[in-house]
Amino acid sequence: MKILAIESSCDETAAAVVEDGRRVCSNIVASQVEEHQLYGGVVPEIASRRHCEAVVGVTNEALKEAGVSMEEIDAIGVTYAPGLIGALLVGVNFAKGLAMATNKPLVPVHHLRGHIAANYLAHADLKPPFLCLVVSGGHTHIIEVTDYTSFRVIGRTRDDAAGEAYDKAGRAMGFSYPAGVEIDRAAQRGTPTYTLPRPHVEGSRYDMSFSGLKTAVLNLLNRASQKGEEINRDDLCASFQLAVCDILSDRLMAAAEETGAKTIVVAGGVSANSGIRARLSAECEARGMKLYMPPLCYCGDNAAMIGAQAYYEYQSGVRASMELNAVASLPIEESAF
Ligand code: ATP
Ligand code: MG
Ligand code: FE
Repeated sequence: MKILAIESSCDETAAAVVEDGRRVCSNIVASQVEEHQLYGGVVPEIASRRHCEAVVGVTNEALKEAGVSMEEIDAIGVTYAPGLIGALLVGVNFAKGLAMATNKPLVPVHHLRGHIAANYLAHADLKPPFLCLVVSGGHTHIIEVTDYTSFRVIGRTRDDAAGEAYDKAGRAMGFSYPAGVEIDRAAQRGTPTYTLPRPHVEGSRYDMSFSGLKTAVLNLLNRASQKGEEINRDDLCASFQLAVCDILSDRLMAAAEETGAKTIVVAGGVSANSGIRARLSAECEARGMKLYMPPLCYCGDNAAMIGAQAYYEYQSGVRASMELNAVASLPIEESAF
């Protein structure tokens, strides 16, 4: 079964053709990042406009690269939540129009379920159940994935997402948006010599907090500039990255041990981070757990991951009508279909 998938939840306009949820026939991503860099972050109105301009071309490119015509497509998958509402609406309305014109089934996909499904594209042997850490620009969750379309969030950040902390701390350090990959590179050159907090949160063993860590970086930079002291930016990045790794690894390993999970999966844009990949590899190996991570090309936003999840949603009977609407915020557990 071939699915044409569309993704437009943030600042990437993406289309892909995926076969049976596992084989990528094409994967086209048009990024707007250079334009948003001028403003230090994603400007929602600009994102929506650029999606409108790009969505037709990106979709044609995905069909062309896959070598399939629209007639050979069995269903259309689209990200409908969560994300920037105006950005999501472009993909949703385009997919609705395409589904109506071609009389194909329309399958709505939750963006975070898509991030998790990115792992199915690279790991043929991976199937639920497993324990998943989703670390992205807007979310940081520890999730029990009991089946392809069943999820239970058991831990989450109480404030900033890990990716958001990277981007905000990075901005203060003078990196351009998105700063995650730049901090990662600098961290590999530096030594973690600065002391930064690993905040604990009351109430849940698996919940996390990143805003205090970000503020600690801002305070450190402000104090140094008031005193006219030099900061070694590579060392600060290494210290920040170590703190993020400590927090994520501590919660994820506790959840794995206490739920008895043997298979661990990581997903989302921040799963590209070299420190997190190395740390979780070592921690899982020490405990005899099997770890799956997406290849770097599927960590960030793309439509192939949406096509993978759309296949499993379709198999479980999920269909959208022409009433489908975009939803800015929606828990991963919930499905209205
Ligand atoms: P969400 O998926 O929660 O809706 P999003 O789609 O904006 O949010 P993603 O595209 O999944 O987020 O991930 C983008 C985030 O990943 C950004 O915050 C970016 O800085 C971060 N990121 C990318 N590469 C790295 C890296 N190597 N190290 C740390 N962070 C990274
Ligand atoms: Mg993006
Ligand atoms: Fe994302």
